[in-house]
Amino acid sequence: MSALQTQIRKRLHEARRVLVTSHVRPDGDAIGSLLALGLGLANLGKEVQLVLSDGLPASFKHLPGSDLIREKSEGDFDLVVTVDCSDLKRAGPALGGRKPDLVIDHHATNEAFGNLNLIEPEAVATASALMRHMPAWGMVITPQMAAGLLTGLITDTLGFRTPNTTPECLRQAADLLETGAEMHDLYYRSMIRRTFPAARYWGAGLSSLQKADGIIWATLTLEARRDSGYGGNDDADLINIVSAIEGSDVTLMFVEQKNGSVKVSWRASNPQVDVSQVALQFGGGGHKAAAGAEVDGGLAEVQERILDATRRVIKGQTGIP
Ligand code: 5GP
Ligand code: MN
Repeated sequence: MSALQTQIRKRLHEARRVLVTSHVRPDGDAIGSLLALGLGLANLGKEVQLVLSDGLPASFKHLPGSDLIREKSEGDFDLVVTVDCSDLKRAGPALGGRKPDLVIDHHATNEAFGNLNLIEPEAVATASALMRHMPAWGMVITPQMAAGLLTGLITDTLGFRTPNTTPECLRQAADLLETGAEMHDLYYRSMIRRTFPAARYWGAGLSSLQKADGIIWATLTLEARRDSGYGGNDDADLINIVSAIEGSDVTLMFVEQKNGSVKVSWRASNPQVDVSQVALQFGGGGHKAAAGAEVDGGLAEVQERILDATRRVIKGQTGIP
């Protein structure tokens, strides 16, 4: 066992009260990893608080343990852990100014902002990194934990179809099926099923589609959110649809936020382009093919700045004039 692994195991076992949190606008990997680690720690007899400052999206309420998730922490902790979170800003208010004792993540752009940092960029999901190590930490993966872990694997690989889907990830999925996770159900709920308001919100985003200079982009305004009745502050995964449209190097999604900022998502379809490099310029991060940032400013102004920077990165990385 590496020195880092020994230290992590020791901290996990010595802790009594543990806070586990993840990033704002939590996705399937954030939630699934949070639940798996939280339930694993609870099974070791720890008092655990699971906190997501944006709350749990309704589409993940079927996951075992999700009723334990709160929006705020209470009291003191002797161990603070973040999962699937690459920097302090992205953790949002859940940490309440605390520096995490342990950061577990798979983002190459992770700033190693904890005291102990387990960062495995070649893992397809944080859930995959957790699966690698939980047995060595003395955690037995139960069917409840398996549901969260499999959700993380499914959502971060968009249903096992991203280029980084490895034999390891598929073996992990098979192990989780053997543990009792219902893949068809978890897949359908996280990747396929959508609410009626989300579909109407998609409609507004799809009508906004534009294309220029190798970039396809869509915009979701606060007005569209209000009109459709969509309850989230994200893009309802519309980027997964938009990025399937052929004929671009990069796909972009702009989601207007209530606090005067814009959530931007990038997806690269050209393997020569590394969109995490553009996201980093705006204080965000992510992976080579999928990145995001929250950018202060009005919609029109942010769009202009982002399109401009993205054009420049495409040009620099591909040599396309
Ligand atoms: P999405 O665009 O779907 O929100 O995220 C795409 C990828 O970029 C994910 O790996 C996600 O964790 C990361 N990402 C999205 N937004 C941010 C952000 O504001 N900061 C950082 N550091 N990463 C982000
Ligand atoms: Mn992830």
